[in-house]
Amino acid sequence: MMAFWRRRREEPEVKGAEPEPIPEPAEPAAESLSTALAPEPVPPEPTPEPEATPALAPFDPTAFLAVAPEGSLDTGLEKTRTGLVTQLRGYLGNADGPQWDEVEETLIAGDIGAVLAIDLVERARKRRDPGGPEAAIRAELAALLVKRDVDWEPRSAVDGGPAVVLVVGVNGTGKTTTIGKLAARYAGTGRSVILAAADTFRAAAIDQLRIWADRAAVPMVAHAPGADPGAVVFDALDAAVARGADLVIADTAGRLHTRSNLMDELTKVRGIIDKRLPGAAPETLFVLDATTGQNGLAQARAFHQAVGLTGIVLTKLDSTAKGGIVFAIEDALKIPVRFVGVGEGVGDLLPFDPEAFVEALFA
Ligand code: GDP
Repeated sequence: MMAFWRRRREEPEVKGAEPEPIPEPAEPAAESLSTALAPEPVPPEPTPEPEATPALAPFDPTAFLAVAPEGSLDTGLEKTRTGLVTQLRGYLGNADGPQWDEVEETLIAGDIGAVLAIDLVERARKRRDPGGPEAAIRAELAALLVKRDVDWEPRSAVDGGPAVVLVVGVNGTGKTTTIGKLAARYAGTGRSVILAAADTFRAAAIDQLRIWADRAAVPMVAHAPGADPGAVVFDALDAAVARGADLVIADTAGRLHTRSNLMDELTKVRGIIDKRLPGAAPETLFVLDATTGQNGLAQARAFHQAVGLTGIVLTKLDSTAKGGIVFAIEDALKIPVRFVGVGEGVGDLLPFDPEAFVEALFA
């Protein structure tokens, strides 16, 4: 069964705009010995008439976007810049010549990974870059990033069908938040978006996605908790075709009883997309929490093997001082980071541009 859900139009949009609830009058306390002996109570002041509840403004789906502060790469990278990069600069600009061993250690501590850090320093040393050691490291880091079309966006590969984005990753990495941000982003540019709540394993996942669908004012297809996730995706695709929607973004489970269980489920969902929309070539985005460092890399490899990832969303970049995972993951999987998450707000998802990234890092 398919259930569409959409924000009620009369609901107030901005958090905190709700009128204060009027407190219930306190229950009269049961009489005790001390109250029985107390002097006559003074009659209470008459309660002032509650102020009339202000009429709610008509619902404006774009209001949330307008008030949400937009994250920037500069602020999102502040911790990494003042942590990893400041330290690197100290060792590279040492008065007695660069301290390459320390540079290597700093890169390893910054989540680049040991093998890659050793290779990278060796290549940087050999470069004898006229710009100096910092320019050499910067150029070698930039060279690790996969070439891409920076104006990328999910596009339909099937006539009359929507573009399909399958969002995968481990719970807690920011999958739901990312889907919400993506929905708001594309809905904000006039595309009709439908969310598919295919993480049916956790009831809370459906509820959380609903909150984001609400914020982005997009419809969501959901079944009951425990339902077949493939059926949810199938229905969402059906709905998208019937309504001529531009984009379906599907959430998926991030943890099942076993890893093979999880991977089987994802493979099945992929199969359903191929069956309902042959040739749809879904964009399969892996959500990686930047604060998990090299562990995240192992997760990414497992997901890549199971479903064939096409892109990465690196979340919580604002919360780590070790932004090196960007380089490590692109180098390891040769898959582009499509977006970076730099905060919890709806505007805190930025398209990833390698040049701008390296520039902001070394600003
Ligand atoms: P899920 O379990 O993978 O769906 O994860 P959620 O979307 O529920 O996110 C888990 C937590 O991470 C929430 O508190 C989010 O607000 C937070 N979060 C998600 N993305 C970002 C980000 O880019 N930066 C920060 N600082 N927090 C984020």
